[in-house]
Amino acid sequence: MYRLGQKEIDEVSKVIKARKMFRVGDPKTGHLQEANRFEKEWAHTIGVKHTLLLSGGGTAGLMAGLAGMGIGPGDEVIVPGYTFMATAAAVLMVGAIPVLAEINETLTLDPRDVEKKIGPHTKAIIPVHICGIPADMKTLTSLARKHKIKVLEDCCQADGGSFKGKRLGSWGQAGAYSFNDFKIMSAGEGGALVTNDATIYERASIYADSGAAFRPYAGNFTMPVFLGFQFRSTEIMGAILRMQLQRLAGMLADLRRIRARFIAELKDKPGIRFAPSNDPKGDCGVVVSFQFESEAAARAFAKAGGIGGWLPIDSGKHVYSNWEPILTHRAGHHPDMNPYRMPKNKGLRLDYTKNMCPRTLDILKRTVYISLHPDWTKAQIRARIEACRKAGAS
Ligand SMILES: *Cc1c(COP(=O)(O)O)cnc(C)c1O
Repeated sequence: MYRLGQKEIDEVSKVIKARKMFRVGDPKTGHLQEANRFEKEWAHTIGVKHTLLLSGGGTAGLMAGLAGMGIGPGDEVIVPGYTFMATAAAVLMVGAIPVLAEINETLTLDPRDVEKKIGPHTKAIIPVHICGIPADMKTLTSLARKHKIKVLEDCCQADGGSFKGKRLGSWGQAGAYSFNDFKIMSAGEGGALVTNDATIYERASIYADSGAAFRPYAGNFTMPVFLGFQFRSTEIMGAILRMQLQRLAGMLADLRRIRARFIAELKDKPGIRFAPSNDPKGDCGVVVSFQFESEAAARAFAKAGGIGGWLPIDSGKHVYSNWEPILTHRAGHHPDMNPYRMPKNKGLRLDYTKNMCPRTLDILKRTVYISLHPDWTKAQIRARIEACRKAGAS
């Protein structure tokens, strides 16, 4: 979905010519500081103090965010039943237990179900801005404040999106992004964590750098350096993403313009109903989403000629009922490092069933997405819209 070209080639070639691919280095020796510069630029874009650029993807971003919040065994974290499995997996990777909640018609986390599911061990909520669709961050953050729990935004499919004029990732205490090959910005792989919170940033920085103890800035840490993973980005990743960031505003503008065209031309047409949106202006425009009364009606529309629609219920690892390793408690490489077997997690909500979020499954079966492309021509857009109008009327 991302755009890619000569700018990325030029910047990567500068890094290679400088022979400085490791992100830690002195600018006086010709080190280009690409990872550092991207981190500053991304923090500025999102409107937060700190960014941590990571190899290891959005999954590493989520893990670092949870670790930064001090979440671990004995804690529950609420995640929606509709998200890529990595959201729930990241919770398990820090030793905590994911508790599943329903989505509503907006396809994002349902605040009313979240409120019902907050329990004595709940430490955080992870709203997911799935397919670039903003979750209701106002209601979710006020709910979290009321219950004194934290919010980590999963912005992996929503690089650059916003809710009520404020960027996604800046509403919660922290936000995670992915730059893998399927996202709005890409370096092939990669991820980031953002936060305004100095403690989250510091703990996440240590967690994500196995060599944190040996860094020139280690003396500035306020907490003793513990052992972490190796999620450091390369300079090449930083160089590519700086150029991807330059393309972001144009891409989002094109995607949003196309999405708005679908809505303007099809609203009130027979047989057409769009999924409600928490903020159509902040939506990234990755998809346009239609909803129907039944799965049969949704499938008929998706399959109609020229539409190229698809049902989110068919998106495999994005639907909790397909999360086999989680449903069957296969987490951790060793039995004693499996959070489902950890003594501190005894008494938490460990068990799942395939039908535990029935509303989520129902909505995913009645929704049709059309994936939008920012480089569609006027004729391509017109043809799709016309196909939708025809299918709705039939
Ligand atoms: C892609 C994605 C992730 C994980 O990102 P990786 O870069 O693959 O680790 C997490 N959550 C959601 C919603 C995603 O789409």
